[in-house]
Amino acid sequence: MRLSRFPLHTTKETPADAEVVSHQLMLRAGYIRKLGAGLYTWLPIGLRVLHKIEAIIREEMNRAGAVEVLMPSVHPAELWQESGRWQQMGEEMLRFKDRHQNDFAYGPTHEEVICHHFRQDFRSYRQLPVNFYQIQTKFRDERRPRFGVMRAREFIMKDAYSFHMDREDLAREYENMRQTYARIFTRLGVDFRIVQADSGNIGGSQSEEFHILAGSGEDLLAVSDSGSYAANVEAAACLPPQTPRPAPTQALEKVATPGQRTCEQVAKFLNVPLTGKVKLLVVKGADGGLVALALRGDHQLNEIKAAKHPLVASPLTFAAPEEVQRVFGCEVGYLGPVRCPIPVIADHAAAAIADFVCGANENDHHLRGVNWGRDCREPQVADLRMIVEGDPSPDGVGRIKFYRGIEGGHIFQLGRKYSAAMHLSVLDDKGQAVVPEMGCYGIGVTRLAAAVIEQSHDAAGMIWPDAIAPFRVILCPIGMDKSETVRVAVETLYAELVAAGVDVLLDDRGQRPGVMFADADLIGIPHRIVIGDKGLAQQQYEYKHRRAGKPEMIPATTAAVLEK
Ligand code: ATP
Ligand code: MG
Ligand code: MG
Ligand code: MG
Repeated sequence: MRLSRFPLHTTKETPADAEVVSHQLMLRAGYIRKLGAGLYTWLPIGLRVLHKIEAIIREEMNRAGAVEVLMPSVHPAELWQESGRWQQMGEEMLRFKDRHQNDFAYGPTHEEVICHHFRQDFRSYRQLPVNFYQIQTKFRDERRPRFGVMRAREFIMKDAYSFHMDREDLAREYENMRQTYARIFTRLGVDFRIVQADSGNIGGSQSEEFHILAGSGEDLLAVSDSGSYAANVEAAACLPPQTPRPAPTQALEKVATPGQRTCEQVAKFLNVPLTGKVKLLVVKGADGGLVALALRGDHQLNEIKAAKHPLVASPLTFAAPEEVQRVFGCEVGYLGPVRCPIPVIADHAAAAIADFVCGANENDHHLRGVNWGRDCREPQVADLRMIVEGDPSPDGVGRIKFYRGIEGGHIFQLGRKYSAAMHLSVLDDKGQAVVPEMGCYGIGVTRLAAAVIEQSHDAAGMIWPDAIAPFRVILCPIGMDKSETVRVAVETLYAELVAAGVDVLLDDRGQRPGVMFADADLIGIPHRIVIGDKGLAQQQYEYKHRRAGKPEMIPATTAAVLEK
């Protein structure tokens, strides 16, 4: 590609409304443009990266034996009514009517649609197992679209749905997908962790997320040194399935007064209802005294009551964590931003205090022995240590480190939740009707592009791994319009690289070297070749890898470039 023919719009200015580095760089490098809240156009250079990510995903999904389909993004309401999710989905699902006043949704996910197609064509165990995938546009009316394509409203997902005669076969395919995802993330060149996850409104039993580690990640992950435990803290309060449940009352015993042991008992003691989604938190206060907080409501701190705390005479109702902070004079942080928040109250004086109990997300499921340092809003690995309660052996789980992560993929064993609701049925080898088991597997394609940038950039711009770079090589001729030698050399090299199938970008705009280099760095091309009269006089090109500090001279041959 010749840059003179390729629309590239770069800028030095950091856009004011972009909070995270990937969003800033994608705007500055002309990868994306905003159309509306959570709506983005992918410009030509950005789209090249997206297509390369998609190609890797396709290759690995095909290799794993999944088969590609393409389902509509507009769904008739009836399907969602059948599964019961027309009611459950809430405002995240965009709904509208057609000219005949029929209800529709713009699909946020496709379990209902794939089930509908399955029941049209599948009758026998001989047709199973099968795993369908698609790479397709979703719309979720996110409460807070932000960070550009990272949390958009319209975005591209690779979603897959598998069907099985029994649980064992579902477990086998789940493992197959788990390995496939690990291969995909490895090929994308990202540092990632696989963690236990909360299955959200998709439902089902076993579920894991693939997180790209990044300081800007919205999720907090608890990962043990030994590797035996890794969970999104949304799910962390529920012990990993293989760990025996701890004896009831064990956790709260340490801090609650005798007799106020279980969540129910503490709730009663505090005169706070413990119904449905009530969550309890018990921590030591700034002065070492006991603070007990009850959290109610689905996601937020709707109401906080404090009792028996010397700072507070009577139970209080707060609207915001800032108020807790003000009254207690301590820091309030959240472990777990969405479904099951585990608020943590820390203060500087408390840094030395060990063995906190926090986050009773479920009755008797606490994280115990939490120590933390000064900044609990952005927990640092060194500051935080956590031991999961119920650890059967002292070293089994070991120390838990916290990481911030970007959820790039999510795999689920759904069981029969959807297949039963949608009346799927196949005959087994004895002619008996069986409701198939289902798995589903998602990857945020557009989000991944941003996540890679979060992990791979420097002050000058993006740094793409070869596998998904928009172009692998950029040629920067110096004085191409003045020097016939340079022109011939660069045109020859360009033609030979194109013939060799290399994704090469020729900067033939006639710009100064400084401008060419700044753009090449900003858009993140991994390999840069500079061709100038000085080098050519020695039969040399200047070569620089995007990560290298200094350029080096290489022989002025196409073969030498191809070696890089
Ligand atoms: P999140 O917790 O970030 O809201 P999710 O759990 O709702 O994600 P899933 O239903 O698991 O998302 O969808 C599969 C994948 O789709 C996610 O792992 C993520 O990579 C991607 N994804 C989900 N929501 C968005 C969004 N608003 N913008 C971009 N990608 C998204
Ligand atoms: Mg979501
Ligand atoms: Mg999630
Ligand atoms: Mg998810």
